[in-house]
Order: sequence, then structure tokens, then C-alpha cells
Amino acid sequence: MITDDDLIQALTLRNPTANVSLVRQAYAFAQRAHEGQKRASGAPYFEHPAEVAMILARIHLDSTSIIAALLHDTVEDTSVTLEDIKKHFGSDVAFLVHSVTKLSRLQWSAELKVQASQFHKLLMGMARDMRALLIKLADRLHNMRTLHYLPSLKKQQKIAKETLEIYAPLAERIGIQKFKDEMEDIATRVLYPELYQAITQKVQEMTQSQKVDIEAICQDLHTILQHHHIQATVIGRTKTPPSIIRKMECKHLTFEQLTDLLAFRVVVETRAACYQALGILHGAYVVLPGRFKDYISIPKSNGYQSLHTGLIGPSHHKIEVQIRTKDMDDIAHYGVAAHWWHKNPDQVSPHQEYAWLRDLLEIIEHSDNPEEVMERTSLEVPSREVHCFTPKNRLITLPTGSTCFDFAYAVHTWVGDHCVGAKINGRLMPLRTQLANGDIVDILTSESSVMSPEWARFAMTSHARARIRRMGRAHKKEHYALLGRALFEKKLARKKIPFTPHQLLPYLKTFDCVTLDDLWAKIGHGFVSIPEVLSHVFPQHTWGLPRSQKKNLYRSASSKGMHHTPSSLEIPIHGLIPGLSVRYAGCCYPLPGDRILGILVSGKNITVHREDCPTVERYGSQPDRLLNLAWKKNKILDTKFIGRLSTRMVNQPGNLAAIAHMIGKNRANIVNLKITQRTPEFFDFAIDMELASAEHLQKLITLLKTHKAVCSVERL
Ligand code: MN
Repeated sequence: MITDDDLIQALTLRNPTANVSLVRQAYAFAQRAHEGQKRASGAPYFEHPAEVAMILARIHLDSTSIIAALLHDTVEDTSVTLEDIKKHFGSDVAFLVHSVTKLSRLQWSAELKVQASQFHKLLMGMARDMRALLIKLADRLHNMRTLHYLPSLKKQQKIAKETLEIYAPLAERIGIQKFKDEMEDIATRVLYPELYQAITQKVQEMTQSQKVDIEAICQDLHTILQHHHIQATVIGRTKTPPSIIRKMECKHLTFEQLTDLLAFRVVVETRAACYQALGILHGAYVVLPGRFKDYISIPKSNGYQSLHTGLIGPSHHKIEVQIRTKDMDDIAHYGVAAHWWHKNPDQVSPHQEYAWLRDLLEIIEHSDNPEEVMERTSLEVPSREVHCFTPKNRLITLPTGSTCFDFAYAVHTWVGDHCVGAKINGRLMPLRTQLANGDIVDILTSESSVMSPEWARFAMTSHARARIRRMGRAHKKEHYALLGRALFEKKLARKKIPFTPHQLLPYLKTFDCVTLDDLWAKIGHGFVSIPEVLSHVFPQHTWGLPRSQKKNLYRSASSKGMHHTPSSLEIPIHGLIPGLSVRYAGCCYPLPGDRILGILVSGKNITVHREDCPTVERYGSQPDRLLNLAWKKNKILDTKFIGRLSTRMVNQPGNLAAIAHMIGKNRANIVNLKITQRTPEFFDFAIDMELASAEHLQKLITLLKTHKAVCSVERL
């Protein structure tokens, strides 16, 4: 068990003036409060808050954070009240405990609306005091470390998934790589045990067969630098399974094609020495082309700075080298926390400004569909970025693949909302054009621009996507409302029945609408039929309802507060039109997790396609037939979807069986297998299988790529 002495020793290492006696008091206070409670491991409950406090003391946070960490579960789980904490430890500590308590209730429940609003609270809490998030992250890290004590595997998986989706990316966003790496490592082991195991084994085989001696390589690099009078510390390691998996996925490589399983960190004294060291190493070894990155001149959005390069290094091993100063190294590992160290920790402002945090809050606040935010917002720091400039030389950094839409929204929300065209390097280009490094982009705007929601698929960043959908939706709704009202009034005029719109007001709820415009829009869309509305407003007349079931449908739907027909409830997709049948496209095999669009076929059916499917491209000129769709995240349980892979393998007996075995072990069910080409050396085949999600397929592809007989695997 961590003692108060341990905590104080770690705390005073960089912060000798910290309030030691208050830390001791908090330690005793929390220990008493949790008396008798036990963790899933059987250990005394107090072990948990003590460990959480220690995690924070090790990254040298201030005493307020350490005290709040010790107390973080007392209000939730014991008889202690916030008032008690305020009285004994002050209002700062009380605020932090309060924020963390609120965050702890953040169970990602099945109700996504609740989830999104809690997510919003989490971000608000962070915006007010970053330390609340740091405590929450340390809390989650310790819970991950003790995850294996939970008896239910399902529960372990749920927590691991939540960690991968929310907490690890948040840790990365604020630059605490140490937390992120450990969380990701444990989560990957729990969620993808076969893949984790296969990668670990591959790394072992590789280091043994190539006789890799990391210590010797460090020594060689160090000697060369010293010879040129550069003082450096060199540390080497093999990359971790999660980072190897990510590399394989985003660069579409097999394990054997990876060049940088060995990573070395060179820490030097000054910024100038970083570039000198780079020059020396580039002179001494063969440089792997295309690998050099200068994150010192252009830091990552979380503040990360370093030079990256790839070399064929000592003893002909391919290595990745990261060169940075000590300060940069601190930021690389501890991000926002390192800011506490370089100033007087008790004086540093906890209000760190983060552009992405502002963006996220804005997206959520302006969204009328919080589920969509959860669906569309990625917290991840993009691994590859493109750097462009405004005509006034302002640098705009975007994820690779971004278009002028993303650029416009990155400049300013107003510019995005009103963009009508773009000049790239002085030449007029379509807004959907993907940007390249160094482009100078001039966005043309107009007050009267009209956004189509379907353009969201030409945007990469969640900010741009959310705004475009919102703008387009607002415009579209206006259009449908006008149409709906006109149709409705025409019908009544024909029957010569006097009518004013406010007669509809009592029935808004019946049709699940808030405003009159909502109802007009639903009528215009055809979601609600005119006779259906009329039969409510003028029940004395007969309105020739097309089918009696339709009436029941809306009645039952509105009484439960749902938008969908019972049949579409089973399809885990938002944005469908009630009454229309739904089919998954056979050209692109959409899976839960893919970005999807619907195509209206002859007004009767909806075909669900992946956003990047060539079929969708062909409907570009008929945006009215395209529907915005999104998967309902938590509704996808055991439904099986079909995914298709194409694979090329070395033609040897037993290989196919080995692959089939791998697939089966990963809970995917092969439903069809076809050999498409066969030569004496290789054979190609297509496999159709039942899968749970795009993520499931992705991880399976990566696993197959670790097999030595597999030359390539692609999703079709
Ligand atoms: Mn806790």
C-alpha cells in the first residue's frame, strides 16, 4: 500500500514548498472514510485513491490535485459530503472532487442522449480546470491496471472499449503520452487478445532472428554524436503492440513491411543541437526516404515537438530516431502536466487553452442531435497532417485528406458557413479538393451561400462535418416546411374547409414535433401523411387514410417518444424514413462504424452505402436522393453484417486452413470463399464473412497480416 510518506516524497521532489501536512490529513481522512470497503481484488478500497494520488504525484502535479485524488471517491461512496471537504480542504479541492464525482457517474449508458450530455459536462469540467481531467484519467488508469480482477469478461471489455474510445484519446489530446500508452496497451490486450499475442510474438521472433541488441545500437548512436561534440542521452525500445497495430492499419502494411519496429530517442541540450544531431546521423547512416518529419518547427496540435527520421542504422537495422531537447521530452511524455513543472506549480493557471476543446464544445452546443456528435466526433489526434496557409500566411494544420471545407471551418466558423468557392495557390478550385502541404488557400464567401448536407462527406474534420450537416439540414428543413404547408393548405382549399395554422398546435405532440415548422417539414418530407394530420384536426370528415396501420404507427411511436417504425427500430441506423424498406448495398458492404449514406431508389427503398462507394459518387448530381445516415452506436449488438475481403497468399499446403482458423477464432463466420486467381506461387481469393463491425473487420485484417504467408489483405 502506498503510504503518505511515499506520496510526500514524490510530491516534494519538484515542489519542495507543497502543503505537506494537508496531504497527510487528506490521506488519513480518506483512509478512515473508506474503512471496511473492498475492491474487486479483495484489497482495501483505500488502496485505489492512494494509487491514483501516487500516479499524479509521479507526474509532479500540485498538492491540490494530490489531495483531491485521495478524496475523489469519498463523496460518491462514503458518508462524506462536499461540505465536509470544503471545510477541511478548501474550495479548490472541493470543486475538483465534485467534478471528478460527476465524471465518475459518467457511465456510457445505452441512452446516448444522456451519454452525450455527460460528455459535454466532462468537457466543460475540463475547460474550467484541467486538473479534474487529470485526476479522472489517473483514476481510469488505475482501474485499467486492476481490470483483470473484474470477474465478468463482458464488463472488462466494455470498460476497455470505453477507455480506447474516450480516455486514451483524451490523454493524448492533452499530451500525456504515458497514460495513453498504458491505457491502450491494457485495453488492446483485453479486446484483441489474439492480435496482441500475434504481434508480441512477431516482435520477439524478429529481434531474435536478426540478433537485435538495443543496448549496442544506443551505444553506437551515442558514440557518433559524442565524437561530434553533441551531448546526448539515447534510449531505445521496440515499439509497443498498439503502435505497431496502428502503423499497419493506417499505412496498409503487413508486419514484414514495417520498417521501424525499433525506436530510439535522442535527447540533447538545445534546439540547435537537435538539428546538428540530425545532420550527423544523416551523414553517418543511410537515410530511409520519406520518413523525415520536423515537429519542432511545426509542433503537433497537442504541443508535441521532436525531429523524426528513419535510418538504416548500426548493424544494418532499420530504426526510427526521435531527436528532442529535455523540455520537449517532458512535454512528449507528460503534456499539460509538464507545464506545472516549469513554473511554480501552485501558481500555474489550470485553464489551458485548447482550440480543439473549444471546437468540441461548440459542436455539441449547436447540435440538435447529440447522438450524431458521439457518432462523428473523433477525439484522436490525427497521425498524419497537412499544413496549409491563408493568403495572410496564417498556418492551418489539418488531418491528411482534408478539403477546402475543412480549411474554411478551421479559419472561422463563419467563413465555413458561407464558403462558396476556393482559390488554391491562386487558381479557382472546387471546394471538395483535397489539400496538399504548402497550399495557400483563399476561401471565397457569400452571405447567401447554400450548403447541402451531403457535402459533409467531402469534409474530414468533425467540426466541418457537423456544421455542414447542420447548415444543410436547416436549409433543407425550410424547403420541406414550405412544401409541406403548401400541400396541406391546397388539400383543405380543395375541400373548402376554413383553416388557420394554429389549429394544428394542439396536435404537435401527437406527431412528435415541437414547432409548427417541424410538422410542416415532416409533411413536406412525407414522414407524416396529410390525411393522417387532417383526421386528427377534423375528425368529423373522412380523409381516406391509406392504411390503418399507419395511424397506429404514429400513435404508438409518439406515445413512446420514438421516431421510427417498429421495423426500422431493428435496423441500427439513424436518418431512415419510416415506411421505406432498407437494404445494405452489395457493392460496398457497409459495416457498423463505416461512414454511410442512403440512396433513395424509386421512392420506395433505401440502399445503405459506404460514403466513399463509387455508386454514391454517381448520385452527386441528385442530392435529393441522398440521405444522411449514421449508425446507432449502442444498438448494434449481435446482429451480423457481411464484410468482404480479398487476400493474396503464398501457394503452399496448409496456408488456407491456417487463415480460416484465424478468422474463426476471431468470432467471424465465413459464409463464402472463392479463389479468384491461382499461379504456382500465389493464389488470390475473396472471402465473405459475418462480422460485428468495421472495427472487427479492421482488427481481423491486421491479424491476418501478421501471418507470414499473407502478401496482402484488403477490404473490398
Ligand atoms: Mn476512483
